[in-house]
Amino acid sequence: MTPRISGSTRLAGVIGWPIDHTLSPAMHNAAYEELGLDWVYIPLGVPDEAGVRRVAAAARSLPFVGFNVTMPYKQIALELCDEVAQVARIAGAVNTVHVVDGALIGYNTDGRGLLEALESDAGFAPQSTAVAVFGAGGAASSAVVALVLGGASRVTIVNRSHERAEELAERVALLGRDAEVFCLQPETASDAVREADLVLNATSLGMKPGDPSPVPREWLRSGHVVYDLVYGVPTKLVEEARAVGANAHDGLGMLVCQGATAADIWRDTAESRMPRDVMRRAAEDAIAARQAR
Ligand code: NAP
Repeated sequence: MTPRISGSTRLAGVIGWPIDHTLSPAMHNAAYEELGLDWVYIPLGVPDEAGVRRVAAAARSLPFVGFNVTMPYKQIALELCDEVAQVARIAGAVNTVHVVDGALIGYNTDGRGLLEALESDAGFAPQSTAVAVFGAGGAASSAVVALVLGGASRVTIVNRSHERAEELAERVALLGRDAEVFCLQPETASDAVREADLVLNATSLGMKPGDPSPVPREWLRSGHVVYDLVYGVPTKLVEEARAVGANAHDGLGMLVCQGATAADIWRDTAESRMPRDVMRRAAEDAIAARQAR
């Protein structure tokens, strides 16, 4: 599908590096076409931070509705915005920028995307649950903030680097919610994982073929909801969780929902939401086409 471009076409896109594997143009452009929006979504591959600053500055005067930001620039995007939503500030990362009259307004839709995907894919709502989150980087930060705001009562952050986990827990405390937040290193997390309702992988383990699972198989059980933020490849965690009968999902649903939420912000209308089903199909088709190559 080639997007139609007219003299009044508005721009959206994603800044990141490397960017050649992104599924976002496929899923956004399919949805714009479905809604008859005169928008086009393009990859904005930028190899360094100086380039990110130049693209962000240019977006103020070009006809951008907004743009997404992906690895490794979600933290620097926070500094480049004129205003940043509180959730993004506490998560320490901006993945969505809305361009409003030349001003850059930063949001983080990863957390909202995660909660929506947990609900739609796994039938999971975080209220009064115990969750174990592996990782303490950008994605884990968004996940922990969203789960605490969603009413989780106990959150255990499991990360190799204890310092990074503690630093995340300190930021989460700023939310002023009642959730108990613990930090553990992987070797000591057995009980917290076994007792959790949700086990979530927000480390980068699983992105490369042959990566081990961050969660030992013997800690998993059939009552678990398991959510792996990695998508596009079957991960060992999802395979092993399914083998023990857990309700396990990869991160494609989150990718779709964070992207749809971003475009909902850019459209700023109560009339309709972005079509998640169209976006998911387009992302799945793009993955299948990539695998066939
Ligand atoms: P990041 O900020 O670089 O954080 C990486 C995390 O992974 C850190 O906690 C790091 O631990 C941990 N880690 C890396 N290698 C590890 C290893 N060998 N063993 C154990 N832990 C390891 O990355 P990110 O932006 O948070 O992204 C993390 C993952 O989430 C990526 O796979 C990304 O594709 C995915 N993601 C998915 C979505 C979605 O929509 N589905 C959205 C955002 C991100 P240390 O702190 O100890 O180094």
